[in-house]
Amino acid sequence: MATIAFIGLGNMGNPMAANLVKAGHTVRGFDLVAENLETASQNSVIIAESGTGAVDGADVVITMLPAGAHVLAVYKDIVSAAKAGCLFIDSSTIDVASAREAHELATAQGMLTIDAPVSGGVGGASAGTLTFMAGGSDEAFARAEPILQPMAGRIVHCGTGGSGQAAKICNNMILGISMIGVGEAFVLAEKLGLSHQALFDVASTSSGQCWSINTYCPVPGPVPTSPANNDYKPGFAAALMLKDLRLAQEAAQKSGAVTPLGAEATQLYALFNALGHQDTDFSGIINFLRGNQPAD
Ligand code: NAD
Repeated sequence: MATIAFIGLGNMGNPMAANLVKAGHTVRGFDLVAENLETASQNSVIIAESGTGAVDGADVVITMLPAGAHVLAVYKDIVSAAKAGCLFIDSSTIDVASAREAHELATAQGMLTIDAPVSGGVGGASAGTLTFMAGGSDEAFARAEPILQPMAGRIVHCGTGGSGQAAKICNNMILGISMIGVGEAFVLAEKLGLSHQALFDVASTSSGQCWSINTYCPVPGPVPTSPANNDYKPGFAAALMLKDLRLAQEAAQKSGAVTPLGAEATQLYALFNALGHQDTDFSGIINFLRGNQPAD
């Protein structure tokens, strides 16, 4: 069993750290928010007084922070406090350039690193069924895999440093675009007098099938577990979808990829957020496409 420093004990970090404790690891946690430390302590995480305190003597460091700037600031603070050969795993969703810079900061000090963003949300973090998309050397991945296991349903090694973040934003760009496409199809069906169930029965078994309709259908009824049946409570909040779409656009601009539908989806989710729906599930965009508020 390992001693693991866990930095960033928010909505995702706290249940992830709890699963590492349950698996028998010693977990030392740090966060800036006292309430989050209190929750961690209730989950038998040992509370450290600082990031460097958490990292001192640890075998593994996991970060679960809001954005690239936070990850780089924390890495600059803690890397030199870690023991030689410590494994750094960053599971935050951040821009590819910052992920690569974080790899360089840690490897320059003799550490092993992977970027390992997740999908599966708070539910997956609690259940220990997250999908991890990992980027880093074979050696770092081999060491990270058993550490990630208690938090994971699936772990995919995507390539070298930054590849996990690349996979995450490509996947979520598909998701954002496909949810808008599915929403538009239901709105058109309504205008044509076609029932939600009829469109679902056809499209979910035909060439229109995709996760956004088959698993996460944005109208109530056909998929009883989708957020549409629960007043569009997240699930996956529109604010997080916008964050990921913006990261995809940033990466597209830097790499020269042409992503016109990704750009359009970013603008539509920006408008949806600007109208105050940042805490609505991202599938609630169907109501915006109808010209309604999600509660209508
Ligand atoms: P969150 O805001 O709940 O948690 C982030 C935590 O980091 C906060 O508790 C904050 O206090 C802490 N923090 C910030 N700076 C710090 C510092 N310098 N030192 C120590 N702690 C610091 O966010 P979250 O929902 O847990 O998401 C974390 C990451 O996971 C984000 O990058 C997000 O995009 C990604 N993610 C979230 C979800 C989700 O459904 N919430 C799903 C997939 C991926």
